[in-house]
Amino acid sequence: MPPMHFTGSHEDLAQKGHFYGVYLLCSQSLEQRYHGKCYVGFTVNPKRRIRQHNRGCDFGGARKTSKKGPWQMVMIVHGFPNNIAALQFEWAWQQPTLSTRLKIFAELKRKLPKESHFEYNFRILNRMLNVGPWHRLPLVVRWLETDYERSFPLQLPAHMRIVSGKLAITTSQRQLRLEAATPTIWAHECHLCMQRIEQPERSRLGCLNASCRLTCHMLCLANYLLGEQPGQYIPIGGECPLCETPLSWATLLQRKRLGEGVNADQDNAESADDLSDEPDVDSDVDAID
Ligand SMILES: [Zn+2]
Ligand SMILES: [Zn+2]
Repeated sequence: MPPMHFTGSHEDLAQKGHFYGVYLLCSQSLEQRYHGKCYVGFTVNPKRRIRQHNRGCDFGGARKTSKKGPWQMVMIVHGFPNNIAALQFEWAWQQPTLSTRLKIFAELKRKLPKESHFEYNFRILNRMLNVGPWHRLPLVVRWLETDYERSFPLQLPAHMRIVSGKLAITTSQRQLRLEAATPTIWAHECHLCMQRIEQPERSRLGCLNASCRLTCHMLCLANYLLGEQPGQYIPIGGECPLCETPLSWATLLQRKRLGEGVNADQDNAESADDLSDEPDVDSDVDAID
């Protein structure tokens, strides 16, 4: 059956700070026990992420994939409205028996004896794309390795796209500025320790990229950033754990002192036009340039 969906094969461009993907890795290990094993993960930068997995956990790769590769990133699902939606998708794909949306499907409980790990993960994905809340999202399923490409037995919602080819992430300064005008939506729990944030006005920090929904305790983020700078007591900076935007600790604290600028809890309806007329609206966001 010919695919019902648009298929492209050129290298596409995606906006940095705006791309959230959930990918599937397959091991090409020569060791029998690892060969064909799969790993589902979240990334904002697929090219960089696959390099990290193949260099092992000392270089930011996940511990689960360390020394079990080389890994191939065979596909990536993108088009999520924000990083939290993508992280939820990642979690459900990894844990179909725990996800409330998926555990009702008995056939997803385990890999069939004749099935490869890839085929099992593909089957879970196919189901996920056809159930709520994901079936409503404008998702793109991108094949990165043609050897694995195949059609979905359960047809995907018509608004989704299936494409093949690599993806490059670019930064548009204008895009970042426009995003800076969007108020942050805070989560109730810290994304790093998963505990409730009791006194948000005192202890909550977010990301400098306004389209990122990172919410965390000041201490948790400090510890996270210190992890990248061993031997230090006060972080200098690092990358946001969710979107990889460069964060300067001084800028984060300064913004916190200023009442979080346009990212305050109250809806502060600054339009993009206002921003260009009044550069002082959120000048500290320039630090991300
Ligand atoms: Zn925390
Ligand atoms: Zn971020």
